[in-house]
Amino acid sequence: MALMLTLTYRALVQTREEALQARLSGILKILVQAAGGSTNARAKLLRQVGSDSVVHRTLLAARTGAPVVADTALKLTLAKLVAPADSGLPVELWTADGRRVAFVGEDVRDSVSTLRPELRSIKGTRVSEVPVDSTGSDSVQFGALYRSGPRVLFWAVVPINHLGQRIGYLAQQRRVSPNANVTQVLRDLSGEEVRLYFRNVTDGFTSSVDGKPVIAPISRDTTPTGFVAVREDGGKQVGMEGRLPGVPYIFSLETPAATLVMAPRATLRRIALLCLLLLAAAIIAAWALSRRIVRPLSDLTTAASAIARGDYDRRVQSRDAPEEVDRLADSFNRMVSEVQASQHELASQVEEAQATAEELEQTNLQLQEASEAAAHARDAALLANQAKSDFLAVMSHELRTPLNAIGGYADILQMGIYGEVNEAQNDALVRIARSQQTLLSLINDVLNFAKLEAGQVRYIITDVPLRAVLDNLEEFIAPQLRDKELGYTVQPCDDSVAVRADAEKLQQILINLLSNAIKYTSAGGRIDVSCEVLNGEVRVNVADTGIGIAADRLDHIFDPFIQVGRALNRPHEGVGLGLSISRDLAAAMGGRLSVTSTLGEGSVFTLTLARST
Ligand code: ADP
Repeated sequence: MALMLTLTYRALVQTREEALQARLSGILKILVQAAGGSTNARAKLLRQVGSDSVVHRTLLAARTGAPVVADTALKLTLAKLVAPADSGLPVELWTADGRRVAFVGEDVRDSVSTLRPELRSIKGTRVSEVPVDSTGSDSVQFGALYRSGPRVLFWAVVPINHLGQRIGYLAQQRRVSPNANVTQVLRDLSGEEVRLYFRNVTDGFTSSVDGKPVIAPISRDTTPTGFVAVREDGGKQVGMEGRLPGVPYIFSLETPAATLVMAPRATLRRIALLCLLLLAAAIIAAWALSRRIVRPLSDLTTAASAIARGDYDRRVQSRDAPEEVDRLADSFNRMVSEVQASQHELASQVEEAQATAEELEQTNLQLQEASEAAAHARDAALLANQAKSDFLAVMSHELRTPLNAIGGYADILQMGIYGEVNEAQNDALVRIARSQQTLLSLINDVLNFAKLEAGQVRYIITDVPLRAVLDNLEEFIAPQLRDKELGYTVQPCDDSVAVRADAEKLQQILINLLSNAIKYTSAGGRIDVSCEVLNGEVRVNVADTGIGIAADRLDHIFDPFIQVGRALNRPHEGVGLGLSISRDLAAAMGGRLSVTSTLGEGSVFTLTLARST
């Protein structure tokens, strides 16, 4: 605002200066015109009196050297020049050689100076220098201004020529007096505090417009458009000068510099006042606005902070607030209510979760206890299982010795070493031998199983050529095949095919599968052994056309002591360990044993082993 006011002030002052200059120069022009008019009138009157016959006669007479008597006619003629303002001031008639021959008014010869009148005008133009122009007409000369007591005087001189020859001068002392014309013009035009001065071009002596000597200014500087002066009584003044032709002084118009800035200052004051009023209005408006908008918003912020600290009971009051703020506050309050509800819900959920966690912890403890109990039970079971396996191993071993003895003695009896045996005895011995074989095979199974369970079986895994293994099988099963009249074929693999296996265990598995096939295939059926190589694996299939296995039993036949369709009155031979042992052996060699079967049609057991590379 200060910047704006400063710029405005400068602009106003500049405009004001320009306007003042324009006005002063206008006034000057008019004044110079007006003054020029009166100077010409005065010059005309002077020339008129100077050419009067009485004047000429007196001067011509004086040329002869005869004493001049200023008669009444001459004095009356001279008195024509005396204006009311000049009353008392002299009008003098001089010869060309410098003798005063007549005068009216004050005799200033003795009282002021003995100098000739033209010299009294101080540095003004000398009367003797007034030229006689070619036409012989008289040229009026005005002298410079000078001080005489409280008055300002000057001389006007007109040369008098007779027949082209200078015969004398007419001189009039005049006073600078208030000129009604000039005063009027000044008053009409200026309207400001403008003063007019007359200033000598020669010595700078200055007179006021009403004929009073004026003290010279303390300082005076010319400017491009005029001058700036500092006066003791009026302070800083700005002014302008105008020259009037034919007089040795200039017109000087002055006005206090303060008038230049008065109006701009007043305007500036008004603008400043207006600005202050606007500012006050703005402050009031801002205050009102802050009451209506900022305060509710600040309440909103405070409430938001309180809510952030967990004080969900806080609400925002928005009475008297604008509609938007009111709506905002409403939305905020609604949001807080919802947050509060959610928070409550969350708190209850947290409580529930805590309760659940406690329950879980409890359950976990119980589970831990149960787990420990289970671990105990498992350890106990493992111990018991170990004891069982040990027992089975020992028992089987102990049973084999007497069984072998039974077999041996039965053979001896059959050979007739202890005497001839009849047919019935022989039949009995055959049954004894068969039962001994069956029992021995059962015990072997049990012993094998027990060893497997006890982890006592050792494996020697090598590359086993499959063809030889398959070709050798028949010799182990030939009697049974013959007995049941079963067809038997082997489709061996390429000679080069070998598997990673323990040769003995591999043979044991295959004999076991073949024995089962024979066992569960009725007389006249078929058993086919085949081999296929697939994806780095070798499969040996043992297929029969036997009784098959029901689909729901397929999963269980590999469990120990499981016999499908076991019937107490007609059990098959065996105890249900063969497949269990075979699968364990296959797995221990990195292979697997699987089966597909259709009840009443037959079964295919497949042993899969890794192919040797
Ligand atoms: P087992 O000594 O009774 O033969 P296994 O473990 O060898 O014991 O066989 C388990 C059961 O699987 C048998 O009791 C039999 O019911 C069934 N099984 C095994 N092989 C065949 C087969 N080739 N055909 C039909 N059933 C079979």
